[in-house]
Amino acid sequence: MTTEKELIQKVPTGLFIGGEWRQTDKRIDVTDPSTGAVLTSIADASADDATAALDAAVAVQDEWAATAPRTRSNILRTAFDLMQERRDEFALLMTLEMGKPLSESNGEVTYGGEFLRWFSEEAVRITGRYGVNPEGTGRMTVSQHPVGPCYLITPWNFPLAMATRKIAPALAAGCTVVIKPASLTPLTTLYFAKLLEDAGLPAGVVNVITTSSSGAVTEPLLNDSRLRKLSFTGSTPVGQKLIEQSAKNVLRTSMELGGNAPFVVFEDADLDAAVDGAIAAKFRNVGQACTAANRFIVHSSVAEEFARRVTERVKAFGLGRGTEDGVTIGPLIDDRAVTKATELVDDAVSKGATLLTGGSAVDRDGSFYEPTVLTDVKKGSNILREEIFGPVLAIVPFDDEADAVRLANDTEYGLVSYVFTQDIARGQRMIDKLQTGMMGLNVGVISNAAAPFGGVKQSGIGREGGFEGIHEYLSTKYTMTPAS
Ligand code: NAP
Repeated sequence: MTTEKELIQKVPTGLFIGGEWRQTDKRIDVTDPSTGAVLTSIADASADDATAALDAAVAVQDEWAATAPRTRSNILRTAFDLMQERRDEFALLMTLEMGKPLSESNGEVTYGGEFLRWFSEEAVRITGRYGVNPEGTGRMTVSQHPVGPCYLITPWNFPLAMATRKIAPALAAGCTVVIKPASLTPLTTLYFAKLLEDAGLPAGVVNVITTSSSGAVTEPLLNDSRLRKLSFTGSTPVGQKLIEQSAKNVLRTSMELGGNAPFVVFEDADLDAAVDGAIAAKFRNVGQACTAANRFIVHSSVAEEFARRVTERVKAFGLGRGTEDGVTIGPLIDDRAVTKATELVDDAVSKGATLLTGGSAVDRDGSFYEPTVLTDVKKGSNILREEIFGPVLAIVPFDDEADAVRLANDTEYGLVSYVFTQDIARGQRMIDKLQTGMMGLNVGVISNAAAPFGGVKQSGIGREGGFEGIHEYLSTKYTMTPAS
């Protein structure tokens, strides 16, 4: 088993441009959020470095697009196999730089790795269609082509899966990329770039820039007419800004943005299943997931019992460093996240919510916040409007179905909703009525590489994964030829 120190020493710390690792004088420290200790320091790219990365991606775009789909597929499949061999290292690395418990990091290796396998299978299934026009005078061919060089920006909360969910379909489609991971968790992407090298990916197809000046480095890339696509996962305000900046060159954009997921428990729900689902949907990743349930909308006849059972489960959580046995709640990503959780809980309590457990920052090294349950949260509390991104479960009671639907849809976000009911007709009505791109009906975890992940309203544009995922990196061309 590789030790923490040995693993950190194996991770490249430079920019990965045109198949070469380049160092910079300026450095970024990467810290362990469970202790605050510096793990290592990495290169800090300037705007010129970013342009050099785009130069490298542009230089090999045509060659990569012309590479046989089977060859592209085999490289992705080899990457998937290497990911399984290096599973323990990737899991530990994510726990070190991001803080989630090791068991969850292992889950992310499985989930993130699956995009490599799924898109290795999709790479050889890019098809079009052919037909005669209605007048019978022409033949119409519809074909799919890589969009061209892509810029990918990923967040810190799922350091591996957010990278593979973009890189794998891009490569399968025949696109070259520049990827910029979050400066808080860059090590997983750097180690993944090394894995791609080992899997035989040609130089320049994937380039990695790490930077402490995301905005200054990104703008020139978006203004460069050689770039053809931006795929972003992160917060809605940053996504909105990037959409504006992408207008100049009319870039194709995919946006996976914030969420404010409702978790609706009807009076006819299987309460055991609802409690299991709630724990998974709320506390996975210490609540730091775009799919995290944000508002628990629970029928008043079962709200008290639901609150009692989830509180019992939450009180049994083990809090600590993610590498320790028995830990289910790690640190939040940084002190700002602790401040945000504190403010949201204090605001809800001051407006009349009842605190059942937790409710405070933890007095120890690292950025920890107690797993918390609030019930009877009042209308107008900030916690119902904002993405919590922390281990806080907030319950709002309701009395009838129409009220539940109104409460669930009362947000500018529309990523995912969760519904627990044993009434099939009611479940079907919820599929029709809830304004979200995804739904968990009697389940609390929905992500799967084979499914189209994405939101409506201010939660985003486009889908990642599934049959749909590769189309974010393909453009459609229609060709007319004479019939005879
Ligand atoms: P964030 O602050 O928006 O950052 C996301 C990424 O954008 C990071 O790489 C960040 O780099 C970069 N960035 C920030 N400002 C930028 C700018 N002006 N120009 C270019 N890049 C910029 O979000 P976060 O706090 O990392 O992630 C949490 C958010 O992501 C939540 O809202 C969550 O819901 C969302 N999310 C959505 C999905 C989904 O699939 N819908 C999945 C996961 C997370 P630096 O931090 O290094 O500046």
